[in-house]
Amino acid sequence: MNLIDLRMVMLLTGLMSGFMAMMFYSLKRSYPASIKGLGEWSAGLMVLFLACALASTKNILPEFLSVTCSVFLLLIGIYLNYFGTQRFFGVQPRIGRWVGVMALALLGSMWLTWIEPSYLGRLRLFITLMAVLFGFHAHLVWRRSSMRLAKILTLIAFMGMFAIFLARLVGSFLFAVGDEVLDMELRHLIFITCFSFSIFLSSTSMVLMASDRLHAELQYLATHDPLTNALTRRHMNDECMTELARCRRHGHSMALLMMDLDNFKAVNDHYGHQAGDRVLVDFVARVNALLRQPDQLGRFGGEEFVVLLPETTLAEALVVAERIRVACDATGSVPDCTVSIGVTTYEKDSDTMDALLARADAAMYRAKTKGRNRVEIG
Ligand code: GH3
Ligand code: MG
Ligand code: MG
Repeated sequence: MNLIDLRMVMLLTGLMSGFMAMMFYSLKRSYPASIKGLGEWSAGLMVLFLACALASTKNILPEFLSVTCSVFLLLIGIYLNYFGTQRFFGVQPRIGRWVGVMALALLGSMWLTWIEPSYLGRLRLFITLMAVLFGFHAHLVWRRSSMRLAKILTLIAFMGMFAIFLARLVGSFLFAVGDEVLDMELRHLIFITCFSFSIFLSSTSMVLMASDRLHAELQYLATHDPLTNALTRRHMNDECMTELARCRRHGHSMALLMMDLDNFKAVNDHYGHQAGDRVLVDFVARVNALLRQPDQLGRFGGEEFVVLLPETTLAEALVVAERIRVACDATGSVPDCTVSIGVTTYEKDSDTMDALLARADAAMYRAKTKGRNRVEIG
């Protein structure tokens, strides 16, 4: 045991937390503000750095600083990490409740220090709180994270710590102080090593979840139109090509609707560009509400949209198109705007994406020339 200097291990754990805190701080600065919780993780790890630094001064600084303060900083740091994860997942944090619990713990530990001194009492209070925090944190990640690896890492980290604290709590009831199975130094070594691993694993898992979220957000931005949230033209083309290939392979049917809002320029001219934007957003919401889960809606140009209907026959596509036309015609809102729709379906193996789009487009223009606010077949 002499080979390992506990003070040094504690200090190294603190340093690692400090470096992790800096990493989270730099992530917070470079990631979009929509990814929340990174600042709290950075602050939490910084507090853990202070806690470990103070704990490593045992028998050098007064016990109040090296033990009492470091234990409370440890609790605050671990709570801040939990708070950060709550913010990351958009869970409403119950700060008041936890501040109350911490304040009670502080009062309890002061009582057990000065009024009725009890080392065992303080130990039980501290390890119970830590176990509860780790348990809550593990449960939150398990419930909310969609990333398998992040879940596993967090579970190893937090359930490991939860188990250690629980074993310590049970041990405090089973054995008299000094009679425990493991000597003091070995217990501390196990605790610090596991704690250090838990910080490393949980921070790694948090970084993985944050970069996964960033990837998802960038993916969304790249594939969705920022005004209406319909798919972008390029992504819609990719989706249509994939569906076309499926049709060729399996002999499925598919339908395309080309839609263009009628006299939209007049809406802009009369009500202003912003009102025109609202009409576009409203149109997309209205159409999306009418579509099935595999159907896709994309914005091809200003007020021009395409709907992809996989495994849909012409008769079924005409029903959908008519439903969309009626839904637009019947808004009753001002400014209202009707829509002209061209419908086409996949016909033969030699059909290309361009051919399908050209047919749908020609049908849509026919609807325009025939008086608008109607559905035509191409
Ligand atoms: P038609 O019935 O023949 O389709 O007539 P239209 O007025 O709808 O067609 P036109 O092509 O003359 O006008 C389209 C208008 O759509 C012109 C353009 O300013 C407007 N527009 C394009 N993109 C946007 C946008 O993002 N927001 C708003 N508010 N208007 C847009
Ligand atoms: Mg138009
Ligand atoms: Mg147009």
